[in-house]
Amino acid sequence: MKSIAQKKAETAAVKRLREQHQLPQADELVNRILAQDRTALSQAITLAESSSVEHAALALEIIKKCLPHSGRSFRIGITGVPGVGKSTFIESFGTHLTSIGKHVAVLAVDPSSPLSGGSILGDKTRMEKLSLDANAFIRPSPTSQSLGGVTKSTRQNIALCEAAGFDIIIVETVGVGQSETAVHGMTDFFLLLMLAGAGDQLQGIKRGIMEMADGIIITKADGDNEKNAAKAKAEYFSALHLYPPKPSGWQPKVEVTSALYNKGVAETWKLVCDHEQWMKERGFFEVHRKAQELEWVREAVSNEVVQRFFSRQEVADELKRAQKELASGKLSGFEAIQSLYRFI
Ligand code: GDP
Repeated sequence: MKSIAQKKAETAAVKRLREQHQLPQADELVNRILAQDRTALSQAITLAESSSVEHAALALEIIKKCLPHSGRSFRIGITGVPGVGKSTFIESFGTHLTSIGKHVAVLAVDPSSPLSGGSILGDKTRMEKLSLDANAFIRPSPTSQSLGGVTKSTRQNIALCEAAGFDIIIVETVGVGQSETAVHGMTDFFLLLMLAGAGDQLQGIKRGIMEMADGIIITKADGDNEKNAAKAKAEYFSALHLYPPKPSGWQPKVEVTSALYNKGVAETWKLVCDHEQWMKERGFFEVHRKAQELEWVREAVSNEVVQRFFSRQEVADELKRAQKELASGKLSGFEAIQSLYRFI
């Protein structure tokens, strides 16, 4: 049965297609995508995220045809806890980028929380100005439940956006779960947003996330907060030196910004460009992308294998039996594992 969120996600595009009882031809959609038609791009993304087998097959054909035209963007991952200022920053950063001639796509990775059932990023109207910008494209998080599903869709969406001529892809996520690792695995530059004076623990940022960052920006550096932000910059800069150096030798940098007053936004873009140059000059850009691709293949195959294993009837029966026998004490966990291994 479909969840309410999934029902909502049946966008107008798919509904229209259903009503007409016809799906577009893959070639026609691909040609329109390559001609930078954003309606066609939205339709392709909707098809790729749809749970219908028919749509998925068409989406696969479209993605395959778009792949040779993808890969030529710079992909930026952005994370930070709710309220740190992500959407406000992306709005002013994205607007800066379109003003210098870039085409910017913003995608979100926000698996719905198993506890609240809702998403954190998608519930409010975000980036209103950027969404009206002719050179920007904003797509909220796919509504699949699991992180694996959202990650798969986002990777496909990146390829589709690149084929549609977007040269900067921003992938936004909330800094509270595992989604940052997933976003780090699909982007070229990973930017962490932090508030001044709130302490790492308060901000719920795990050590591992700081370690993944290529850059940190201190947000809301305006008014009374300006001094705190300058202090935080120095603190984070020295904290970053405590981590082992990155294989590329890149030393993460810290910037202070106020998205409300457009402060530090151009500087952040310069930081991103410096990183890109650093990586490309030393050959790490390609190495990094290839490693990400391999990791993606491993991940996708292992997800599929796990899913196929657990969907087998004999495995489900054995699990049920093991559950009963574990409860009654007839079987130990070790024995249950051995009995399931027989089906691998
Ligand atoms: P998100 O949840 O991380 O996307 O955060 P938002 O961008 O929605 O921002 C959360 C709150 O912080 C909002 O009330 C914003 O108006 C405010 N905010 C965001 N950026 C700034 C800034 O640069 N300066 C100030 N003073 N407030 C900001």
